[in-house]
Amino acid sequence: MTNLETQSILVVGGGTSGLTTAVEAAEVGREVFIVEKRPYLGGRVAQLYQYFPKLCPPSCGLEINFRRIRQNPRIRLFTMAEVENISGEAGNFDVTIKINPRYVNENCTGCGACAEVVTTEIPNVFNYGMDKIKAVYLPHQFAFPMRYVIDPQIIGTDEATKAKDACKYNAVDLQMQPERLNLRVASIVWATGWNPYDANKIEELGFSMIPNVITNVMMERLAAWNGPTGGKIQRLSDGKPVDSIAFVQCAGSRDENHMPFCSYVCCLASLKQANYVREQNPRSKVVIFYIDIRALGRYEDFYTRVAGDENVTLIKGKVAKVEEDPATGQVIVEAEDIYGGSKSRAQVDLVVLATGMEPSTASDKVPADVAYDENGFIISDSKKPGIYSAGCVKKPMDVATSNRDATAAALKAIQSTVRR
Ligand SMILES: Cc1cc2nc3c(=O)[nH]c(=O)nc-3n(C[C@H](O)[C@H](O)[C@H](O)COP(=O)(O)OP(=O)(O)OC[C@H]3O[C@@H](n4cnc5c(N)ncnc54)[C@H](O)[C@@H]3O)c2cc1C
Repeated sequence: MTNLETQSILVVGGGTSGLTTAVEAAEVGREVFIVEKRPYLGGRVAQLYQYFPKLCPPSCGLEINFRRIRQNPRIRLFTMAEVENISGEAGNFDVTIKINPRYVNENCTGCGACAEVVTTEIPNVFNYGMDKIKAVYLPHQFAFPMRYVIDPQIIGTDEATKAKDACKYNAVDLQMQPERLNLRVASIVWATGWNPYDANKIEELGFSMIPNVITNVMMERLAAWNGPTGGKIQRLSDGKPVDSIAFVQCAGSRDENHMPFCSYVCCLASLKQANYVREQNPRSKVVIFYIDIRALGRYEDFYTRVAGDENVTLIKGKVAKVEEDPATGQVIVEAEDIYGGSKSRAQVDLVVLATGMEPSTASDKVPADVAYDENGFIISDSKKPGIYSAGCVKKPMDVATSNRDATAAALKAIQSTVRR
């Protein structure tokens, strides 16, 4: 074992938090391994249309980190990979990772000839299943690495052979098998982020029973120019432009039956999405049903600006029921209007459920002795010295806070490489 090996750091999760930890640690000289289970880096942020509060595209921030990774030979990246086992202790961990086959190797130029010849389609997970893609696909237009993926369901079929024959660069490898790799690292940063709360569990809000009820993460894709409708915010049932929309805040959040905590970003996300709708369709009307609006610190100005639009109405009251009007396809939302002291009812083209952030570790634990709170967030960095956490796997955070937290995690991880 060389000195360099024992100074290595493993970062699990290639979202904004993991990327930040990785580049910060690599730029002070540490060798870093990034293990990401999706075929690309960027995490949930890559799926946003715009960032609040500046409303710039997420590619701005991500591209800078991708460039830093490309330029840094100390970073090794494993996509479609997960950690299977961790043993050892701070300064000297043995980690087994499993890499699932992509069936496309690094010769890929991203030309797309392999996808052109294939007809089988699969749900597009990048767009939360709102459209379909070919079973040979680039995960999205700015994917890093810019490399195609072949879905395992066509392996062994003529479709896969056609894709292989169409590739001039010898990049399709249909014999690829899952691989296992052992890494020796001094410290580990767990940055596996969050999943959207499953809206199917909130029965009274009608998700998946009413086609014009979607979630906030779906709304990001609906507004995005590279989303399922090319950026047109329209009803999923019939493609009608959205003239009226209601946002249901705390959908499953701050609710003992679902997730008791506040996800911090959902109020801002809905205010941002109200802005998407208002910008695209100046005659549109927006209603936001909320329990409390949480827009702390510098976000207060953003809230004031959006709430000041005369076509945006905020109603304090928890939504009790969401139903479809079968005659028009519109959606009826009923809530208690706390300030008005009556029942409030809105009939709109589209309803967005502002679902919260559930930690990935609620279902997918770290294969080591790490402590969690009652909701599955990682709470303790000290239970297992040398294993740290960063970003939304610890608590719901915006991007700026995640990045700050990830920088702090990089420092702790570096300390573990020298404190032995
Ligand atoms: C609707 C909505 C809109 C939002 N809009 C904004 C906004 O405009 N501005 C803002 O600042 N914030 C916004 N946020 C918050 C933002 O999404 C988070 O701050 C950000 O995603 C946190 O990044 P992360 O890296 O901690 O987690 P993630 O983005 O979840 O990244 C985690 C990564 O880890 C990977 N991973 C998961 N499990 C494993 C595993 N077992 N092994 C390997 N890899 C794994 C995932 O595939 C993913 O790539 C929004 C949130 C929501 C819900």
